[in-house]
Amino acid sequence: MIKQQKVSLFLMLLFFLVMLSYVPTEASQYLDNKHILILNSYQPGFTWTDDQTQAILDTFQEDGYNYTISTEYLDWKRYPYSTTLEHAYQQLQYKYVNQEIDLIITTDDITFQFASLYRKDFLSDAPIVFSGINSEGIMEIDSSIDNYTGVMEVIEPVKTIELALMLNPDLKTLYLIYDNSESGLSTGKLCIDAAKVIAPNLNIISMNNMTAEEIIDTVKSTGPEATFLITTYSFDADGHYIEHEQFCEELGAVSQVPLYHLYDFGINKGIFGGYLTIGYLQGKQAAMLGLEILSGQEASSLPIITEGTNQYTFDYMLLEKYGFTINDLPEDSVLINEPFSFYKTYRSLVLSVLFVFFLLLLFTLILLFYIGKIRRLKNKLGENNEELSQLYEELTATEDEIRRQYGELSEAHQQLEEYSQKLFKLAHHDSLTGLFNRLYLYEEVQSDLNQQKEESAFYFIDLDNFKYINDALGHNTGDELLQVISLRLQKLCDQNNTLIRLGGDEFVFVVHQLKSREEAELFSKNILSLFVAPFRIQGNRLTLTASIGISMFPEHGRTVDTLLRNADMAMYKAKKSGKNGFLFFNGTIKDDILERINIERYFQKALNNGEFMIYYQPQVITQTGEVDGFEALIRWDSPELGFLSPYKFVTIAEETGFIISLGEWTLRNSCHFIKKLNTRLQKQYKISVNISVIQLFQENFVNMIHEVLSELDFPPHLLEIEITESVIMESVELISEKLRLVQALGVTIALDDFGTGYSSLAYLKNIPISTLKVDKLFIDDITDPDSEINLADTIIDLGHKMKLTIVAEGVETADQVAYLKKNGCDKIQGYFYSKPIPAGNLDQWISSLSI
Ligand code: C2E
Ligand code: CA
Ligand code: CA
Repeated sequence: MIKQQKVSLFLMLLFFLVMLSYVPTEASQYLDNKHILILNSYQPGFTWTDDQTQAILDTFQEDGYNYTISTEYLDWKRYPYSTTLEHAYQQLQYKYVNQEIDLIITTDDITFQFASLYRKDFLSDAPIVFSGINSEGIMEIDSSIDNYTGVMEVIEPVKTIELALMLNPDLKTLYLIYDNSESGLSTGKLCIDAAKVIAPNLNIISMNNMTAEEIIDTVKSTGPEATFLITTYSFDADGHYIEHEQFCEELGAVSQVPLYHLYDFGINKGIFGGYLTIGYLQGKQAAMLGLEILSGQEASSLPIITEGTNQYTFDYMLLEKYGFTINDLPEDSVLINEPFSFYKTYRSLVLSVLFVFFLLLLFTLILLFYIGKIRRLKNKLGENNEELSQLYEELTATEDEIRRQYGELSEAHQQLEEYSQKLFKLAHHDSLTGLFNRLYLYEEVQSDLNQQKEESAFYFIDLDNFKYINDALGHNTGDELLQVISLRLQKLCDQNNTLIRLGGDEFVFVVHQLKSREEAELFSKNILSLFVAPFRIQGNRLTLTASIGISMFPEHGRTVDTLLRNADMAMYKAKKSGKNGFLFFNGTIKDDILERINIERYFQKALNNGEFMIYYQPQVITQTGEVDGFEALIRWDSPELGFLSPYKFVTIAEETGFIISLGEWTLRNSCHFIKKLNTRLQKQYKISVNISVIQLFQENFVNMIHEVLSELDFPPHLLEIEITESVIMESVELISEKLRLVQALGVTIALDDFGTGYSSLAYLKNIPISTLKVDKLFIDDITDPDSEINLADTIIDLGHKMKLTIVAEGVETADQVAYLKKNGCDKIQGYFYSKPIPAGNLDQWISSLSI
């Protein structure tokens, strides 16, 4: 853009300058009306004189000022006598004595001499510029003359002769035409000297002593090996004046060879050409010197000009005649008589017009370019405007859209907030009960603990026997039960504690800011008290207890993980020590747990290695004292853990499911043992086998009993299975069904530990049992006179009314035996008769009876 601007600026400046050059400059006015006198010694009509005069006039006119130019002709050439000069003197003196002359230009020797002689007299003593004086003439100028300068008339025959030889290499003879006048002889001599130097073999013939007729005849008869060089020739040998140009015309008319000349006035009349001294150029140079003088230069300070007045000049009309073309001529040749060529004639005009046209074209192009540019810009502007309005519309639309999206976004943001809150709730809450969950405990409670200094308590709550209820009554009931329990637990919630459901039937209470151990204990009791009232779920009235383990922050750990594990262990221990209670964590609990872990680990190995064994405790008929049968009681003699009572490992076996295989093993082995015993001793001893509720819940339980019986071919009526009262009570319906099937096999069922659980005889109506084993708890008191209420006899009475056999457990004294006998208890089992006896000792024990 900047570059384009620069170019157009430059072009405009150029145009301006060109225009300016056409306008005449307003120079100093003093050149106006200067008077110039041109003095010619020849007559008007003589080409040499006319050309010089014309050149002088042209040059002054071109200069643009108003000059007064006077031209005088002395006519000396035709009348070369002293009277001619005298006449001239009188005439010019009279004419110019009262005129101011500023410059004299003389066009040859005679006028220069005339002017220098008389200028003081009547020509205002003006400076002189000469022309038309050759080198010899200059030498003759009187040294006293000053205040002049001029243009020398230089003739160059060398170049013309060389030209003749070039155009005709076969040239043998050169004729020189000159007259016997002073200037004719000197010119002739110059030519002869030149020819001798250039072409020594050239035959040179001077024709100065020939008459005009003789010359014409010679020219007429000359062949191609000769040519003619015409110089100064105005008089023939007889002294007759010859009209030079007319003479040249005559020669040209008869000649068969090109005729050469030294002056330009010779051609145009039949002369071919040469390196010519040009009259016009002489005059022009002289006028230029004159202009310099007029503008203030001293004439004598300007050097005499010797160059620039000659040029190769040829007559175009004769080229063809002598068999030449333009190309044969020197490069800088000037042709006269050339056919009219507009271009050549008006070259500068054409060039100027072309230049102006070019400039106009250039301007037009620039203009068009800018118009195009403006149009494009306009279009673009229009487009942009359109785009802009479109954009504006879009923007307005976008703004609305953005507003709408902003609305949606804030709505989405709000939703997101809600969702994240919900998500947080979902992630941190238990879906069943709505209580906080394990994640919450680990994340939120932990971060609370991190900043806490006061004591806190972790209550690990595990529902006792929930699993049985869940299995027996279905998951829906179980879930509902859990919901009701969680509602009850929430009654204890306040800002200082948090209730969490860990999963299954496990809950955790985290209680902060506890002041004492007693306060912590009290909270446990409050929890347990929530379980006193039975739960009513889908028509069932369920009684449930819980076991609680407590760990203290920071005493038992600083992390939720440790505190939870320790509370869990304490809970486990609490459950082991009889359920429905609470226990604070301590080091021993940890040991116990470790033992439990070991027990679990060694179970399978123990069974495979025969570490388990069965002891038999006799059951005696109260009235007769006879042995009716035995209860099979399991023992474990472990090389790693020592001799273990079933109290230590049965529950673990139940919890791990190991009881299923262990229970079957016990049933099979005890039946097998009794069968052999009966066979050996010819007796009908019964065997009572303890059955865990876990076994009962097995689908194939009835099948398993059936299989063992048939495998061993064991009489079913000699087998009694013992089931703990509490277990039966927890899942009455399911168990009753199974027990009926067992009964159908012929096996009898005993309700073990009667009195420790529900103690509700009403339930017994629905259960197909045949034996009640009254727990040692009731037996212990029967002989105590301080005991206010003795339940044993009531139980015996009621049991009998329900047609059940009553067995008293844990009978240790004779008094107890006597009491039971008196009250009609059917059988007695206890240390009074015997501790459980290893299988290997049983024969011996039996035989000791009969002694
Ligand atoms: P249980 O079924 O109530 O068994 C009676 C327990 O009382 C036995 O303890 C027995 O040794 C003990 N005992 C008997 N007479 C007296 C007495 O006069 N005074 C005292 N202080 N104790 C007496 P044991 O053998 O340690 O068995 C404990 C419990 O282990 C059993 O209680 C029973 O519930 C369970 N158990 C034992 N063997 C098995 C078994 O094979 N399977 C299953 N599922 N449980 C078994
Ligand atoms: Ca038992
Ligand atoms: Ca028992």
